[in-house]
Amino acid sequence: MNYKAIIGLETHVELKTKSKMFCGCSADYFGKEPNSHTCPVCLGLPGALPVPNKIAIEWCIKIGLALNCEILEFSKFDRKNYFYPDLAKGYQISQYDKPFCLNGNVILQNGKKIRIRRVHMEEDTAKLTHDQGDYSLIDFNRSGVPLVEIVTEPDFENADEVVEYLKKLQQIVRYLEVSDADMEKGQMRLEPNISLSKDGSLPKYKVEVKNINSFRFVERAIKFEFNRQKEILEKGESPKQETRGFSERKNETVSQRSKEEAMDYRYFPEPDIPPIIFSKSQIEKLKEGIGELADEKAKRLEKEYGITSYDAEILTRDKKISDLFESTASTFSHTASLTKKGNTDPKEIANFIINKKVDAETSPEDLASQIKNSNISGVVSPEELENAIEKTISEAQKAIEDYKNGKEQALQFLIGQTMRNLGKKANLDDVKSAILEKLKQRFS
Ligand code: ZN
Ligand code: MN
Repeated sequence: MNYKAIIGLETHVELKTKSKMFCGCSADYFGKEPNSHTCPVCLGLPGALPVPNKIAIEWCIKIGLALNCEILEFSKFDRKNYFYPDLAKGYQISQYDKPFCLNGNVILQNGKKIRIRRVHMEEDTAKLTHDQGDYSLIDFNRSGVPLVEIVTEPDFENADEVVEYLKKLQQIVRYLEVSDADMEKGQMRLEPNISLSKDGSLPKYKVEVKNINSFRFVERAIKFEFNRQKEILEKGESPKQETRGFSERKNETVSQRSKEEAMDYRYFPEPDIPPIIFSKSQIEKLKEGIGELADEKAKRLEKEYGITSYDAEILTRDKKISDLFESTASTFSHTASLTKKGNTDPKEIANFIINKKVDAETSPEDLASQIKNSNISGVVSPEELENAIEKTISEAQKAIEDYKNGKEQALQFLIGQTMRNLGKKANLDDVKSAILEKLKQRFS
């Protein structure tokens, strides 16, 4: 029997605001002494009153806008009640029926649309440490850090689509400069929900896997769940609706608790924070402040600098790298500072950054001089190139015949052979076009 996976995703992203969501404590808690970033509000002491962080709300809305969501003009915070020591108040301030953003989407490479159900604002919880023996430790530094939750519809069919979406989401929040989305620091946490269906209709159960912190683990968790649920279904039974955890050591998911329904949380409007009302013009202003995102930037770099779409896509994966490329290309290309020839093609800068895996913190000046030095040691004169190609042609008659007969791979062989004959590094594109020119001469 063939089963189809139906996968949805909840992603939590920590914002890098200066202060926490509802108090003035510093949100920069990572690696700090436990319980040193706390106050009565984020410790949940009785009578302490929350004051929402305006910047955090604006950033949440920017994420929503970048994900093509509608922004609600009337939103509010709600209390999500549960009893667990990671939030001392006994509830989390979150958003229930009026989140800031609804109904967005992300388009995958293959054109498939992943629908975003909602993007809402909430607060992070304290961190519990359980592996100390017969007691647990609580660190409240993380308690109250602004957290944005992004929920998709169950539109994914496999782990590859999930990972592609996640990389895109990570890139978007980094371009917006609202989060570093560093998974190792827990700034981006993933919760896939998975169920299987024979005909693509939505099954009656769903299994949620909590708090995964790497793309690799989310992939493994999904694959593990697919096989586990398939086995159960093939026995004629139905998998339990539950929440599971992912064990990195065993590479499998483990049952944690039966899944709660929204009603179990007894959501109700947060009485200490009035509803948040936006005007259309305020939302419009936030939209204008979004700036250029990766896809747009890749298209522009391709057009403005004449680099390939492939290179543009790789460069824009990291905003800092794409900025480095652009500032180097706009300052140093077509000037005498880079090569003996007297100019440098932006393509050469792009190739150098990609092939040499240049560090994003490199300055444009430093990069320019690195390229210059590599050009001096590897510079190939037209005569040298001519000689190397002649040598290739005399040695590789068969490849030339093959190429003439339409075998495209033969060209790769000729390029490789010429590189070898040159005996030093040369620009691949230069060698390729010189060979093509030579072949054209011969065959015409
Ligand atoms: Zn605080
Ligand atoms: Mn949440």
